[in-house]
Amino acid sequence: MRLKIVTPEKIILDVETKGVFVKAIDGELGVLPGHIPLMTALDIGVAHYITEENLTEFISIIGGTFKIENDEVTILTEAAELGEDIDQTRAEQAVDRARAKLKGMLEQSVDKHSPEMEAARLSVLKAIARIKAANKTHKR
Ligand code: ATP
Repeated sequence: MRLKIVTPEKIILDVETKGVFVKAIDGELGVLPGHIPLMTALDIGVAHYITEENLTEFISIIGGTFKIENDEVTILTEAAELGEDIDQTRAEQAVDRARAKLKGMLEQSVDKHSPEMEAARLSVLKAIARIKAANKTHKR
């Protein structure tokens, strides 16, 4: 089975795999070779796949779409980072920054559904996914 992860800027990954596991918006999804065609939306989270050598590789995925067809998985996403490429300090700083922003907005009684609040919440979720993917990679 083939796994391709594509962002608007580049191809993040194009490899053979024995299984792909992602966080879809309606729950965890795992596909093995021979899976029937399927398409779904992805949540922000950590995905993993099994290499031909039976290693597990972790990737942070910032939402997008997941498709499997003819034994080929395609993930189209705004951003994705391979565990080993993640700058953990940067992600930790991003989470701190976004949390401080959220706190400031809550103190100023900014509308919880405002675009600024949504953007800060999104930044927290993105950074947490990156930290988790980096941690899982280092613990292998
Ligand atoms: P930051 O606030 O740290 O810049 P961000 O959430 O604003 O993070 P994005 O706009 O989601 O960053 O991503 C911009 C680019 O930087 C993308 O190519 C993404 O893959 C990459 N990127 C973001 N954070 C990290 C990280 N911690 N480690 C490695 N690459 C990252």
